[in-house]
Amino acid sequence: MEKNQIEFRNVSFRYHDEAPWVLRDVSFKIDADEWVAIIGHNGSGKSTIAKLMNGLLFPQEGEILVSGQKVEPDTIWDVRKQVGMVFQNPDNQFVGTTVRDDVAFGMENHGMPRELMVERIRESLQAVSMTDYERQEPHRLSGGQKQRVAIASVLAVSPKYIILDEATAMLDPKGRKEIMQTIRDVQGARNLSLITITHDLQEVTQADRVIVMNNGEVWMEGTPRDIFSEKDRLIDIGLDTPFISKLADELMNAGLTISREPLN
Ligand code: ADP
Repeated sequence: MEKNQIEFRNVSFRYHDEAPWVLRDVSFKIDADEWVAIIGHNGSGKSTIAKLMNGLLFPQEGEILVSGQKVEPDTIWDVRKQVGMVFQNPDNQFVGTTVRDDVAFGMENHGMPRELMVERIRESLQAVSMTDYERQEPHRLSGGQKQRVAIASVLAVSPKYIILDEATAMLDPKGRKEIMQTIRDVQGARNLSLITITHDLQEVTQADRVIVMNNGEVWMEGTPRDIFSEKDRLIDIGLDTPFISKLADELMNAGLTISREPLN
């Protein structure tokens, strides 16, 4: 077990005793500095994986290790310091009346000293190019700016891993591109691992590795190119044809495939 890694070991999960299993025997590792995209049809278990990674849920079977530490009720504060989450709807993430308060909130929860907080607010707003908005009310910001602030709030706690759960889904293409660029810059500068749960093709093609979920199981794991080589099977497991077809175009644009057979 490497120190800078998230590991799922034979994880099975259901929401309550009578409910069907939502994840079955899921195992994978995410290394330091890696960008992993998790894709799969709706209901395949992607968000549940995200919630298990930072102790919002606990598995009935198997275990989850974050930097070598098992995720369990006693360790969640340690784990949450390391695993930051950014969700789809930024409006649900704001608690402060100003951008600055908002970024401070997560740090307060982790009991950080005040002097350190001031420094971290400055650094993290700078990292997402939002320094000028420190005194603004979050609800006045654009969707993209709100997501930047949400990312700054996560960065302020100095995580090792960031999970983006459909975090760009509500943005227009320009906003998406900007957020992903911000994330990439931050990842490069801070050696973070990124886990993106996404339908966005750019995010899928840019990732180092893709995990495809199907009905609560890891159906396939590999580079974007490996995944695409199984395109017919991706359609079989309910990923829609336009998505796969666009994925083909994106991969070709990114120079990852040389030819493309037509999809029917
Ligand atoms: P995805 O993110 O891939 O769309 P989810 O992890 O959200 O999938 O959901 C996986 C399955 O778990 C779905 O069948 C969903 O209905 C079920 N589920 C999700 N959240 C809950 C919940 N809070 N209580 C009961 N079932 C849930």
